[in-house]
Amino acid sequence: MDFLNLLFPKYCINCKKLGDYICANCFSFIAFDTGGICAVCGKDSIDKLTHPGCKTKYSIDGIFSSILYKGVSKKLIYNFKYKPYLKNLRKILSDLFYEGLIQKQEFYDIIKKSKKLIFVPIPLYSARERARGYNQAEILAEDLSKRLGFKTSNLLKRVRKTNSQITLSKKERKENIKEAFEFNSSSKSYGKDTCVLLVDDVFTTGSTLMEAAKTLKMNSIKSVWALTLARD
Ligand SMILES: [Zn+2]
Ligand SMILES: [Zn+2]
Repeated sequence: MDFLNLLFPKYCINCKKLGDYICANCFSFIAFDTGGICAVCGKDSIDKLTHPGCKTKYSIDGIFSSILYKGVSKKLIYNFKYKPYLKNLRKILSDLFYEGLIQKQEFYDIIKKSKKLIFVPIPLYSARERARGYNQAEILAEDLSKRLGFKTSNLLKRVRKTNSQITLSKKERKENIKEAFEFNSSSKSYGKDTCVLLVDDVFTTGSTLMEAAKTLKMNSIKSVWALTLARD
């Protein structure tokens, strides 16, 4: 154990064992997301693409998630996003995100096919980001894009404060998030044929990602894919 660990000992966020933020035993409980769903209806989609019948002009083209949001994964993400704001979980979470994505052939196909590709994090409302000190989606987007050789750009701005989505139904979430984003046209990082990979931490009903995709597509972005660390 090094000096810093003596001063600030790390405990497993799940079983409290001394040593690291997650011990090897608890780590083994994390399940990778090997299935796929349609981002619009939430039902199975083997190729992870939005069903042709569910697709509209402004919807997400498909979604890729790395791990399942339950048990240990849920605790890891919670500790990263809320008190005690363990920003040091960044490395573990980025690794999981990356490992989960590179196992998916469909994800590779998109990266290969797109001439111009950028990662765009789901923005937080400014007051919330100030309170937390960081935007977890932006951190994950930066780590991922760097490892895959692309850039992250803040093409979206959160222009409206929204209530927490946690206790809301799918319909209420959709209403709550409506017009929450604005296209950041000052960003020079996009152009014709730009493909956006939207990044967020958790996929629940998809209403936030759908609203973000709509904002991008209304501003001439042709294809928008969603990447989330975890899927509920
Ligand atoms: Zn443990
Ligand atoms: Zn569908």
